[in-house]
Amino acid sequence: MKKIFTLGALILLFLAIGSMAKAKEPYKLNVIYFLPQGDQPVEGYESRLNDLLLYVQDFYRYEMKRNGFGNKTFGLEKTADKRVKILVIRGKHDIPYYSYDNGGGWKAEREIEAYFKANPGTKKSHHALVIMPSTSGDDMNPGGVPFYGIGKYCFALDYKYFDIKYLGEDSEKGRLLTKWFGGMAHELGHGLNLPHNKEQVSVGKEHGTALMGSGNYTFGQKPTFLTKASCAILNNCEVFAQKEMEYYNKNTGFQLKEMEVDFPGTSLPADEIVVKGVFETKIPVNAVNVYVDHAPFGQVNNDYDAESWTVKPDKNNHFALRIPCKELHTKHIDSFQVRVRFLFENGIITTQTADFKWNDLVPYRFNKIK
Ligand code: ZN
Repeated sequence: MKKIFTLGALILLFLAIGSMAKAKEPYKLNVIYFLPQGDQPVEGYESRLNDLLLYVQDFYRYEMKRNGFGNKTFGLEKTADKRVKILVIRGKHDIPYYSYDNGGGWKAEREIEAYFKANPGTKKSHHALVIMPSTSGDDMNPGGVPFYGIGKYCFALDYKYFDIKYLGEDSEKGRLLTKWFGGMAHELGHGLNLPHNKEQVSVGKEHGTALMGSGNYTFGQKPTFLTKASCAILNNCEVFAQKEMEYYNKNTGFQLKEMEVDFPGTSLPADEIVVKGVFETKIPVNAVNVYVDHAPFGQVNNDYDAESWTVKPDKNNHFALRIPCKELHTKHIDSFQVRVRFLFENGIITTQTADFKWNDLVPYRFNKIK
């Protein structure tokens, strides 16, 4: 049967197509292929990286949705032929100048920021993923270039077999891809404001390994996921935004009024950890993340083993969370730190820490009211 569209229906249809064509994310992750002097891109990088980046974008979207944050992921700019736009920037110096051991990441970041300044409109957000060709000279053992994520920048590498077609393959190239692609997805997490964290015991049984724990070694081979606490941070990340607003303004007007970390219950050392408190703020805090980090803690890269939780404060900025100790992997050994992170909707994060010894549990009290 023939269907006749009314004028109204046609207008609605055009509007729908128009809004679909318009990208949802006003801010995009800057994707940069950084080439030192004398270096060449790895063959086929545009199409290989396109496929890999779209896969990671979908992974983040799936996890946001699964954790209750809706259909959100980081924005990627597209070229006219609908590929992920990769900005090629040529470094001022030769390959060794930018090596991993030589602090190459900082040096590249400095030059990339200078490029953005000299080319207005090319910087699409605060966040950047920088990919450099491997300099090891061995495609089955890539390396040599910066590979980490810190601040708003993260670094990954490209090599001949960095190709989605090997993902999940039970082969040397498949395992190699998990290492470097899982690595890229993990470092990108850092570049999108994420700290390390480990899956809770029961969540791990259901979903596998947290990407921001050791999921970079399982990605594509075994179940790997983002924790709800990680997604709560991404929910406030600039490149996940679906409307424009000011990001990363540190003048939050935040003041912690009261906070308690307590260990109620009859059995020792503890059945559960109870964290609660109240704060004042001008920029809204839409989630409070709590991490239980086991010794050694406090230093860089000692937080892979920190299980995480997230809770929404109520409208009076009160928050309360009960952590069952059976969800902790490391039990009653030595000391631990409870890290409470207040997540502002403009992407800023403020942290309050409290240290404890399992064999001498003293509740923590913070009080600015009295
Ligand atoms: Zn890491």
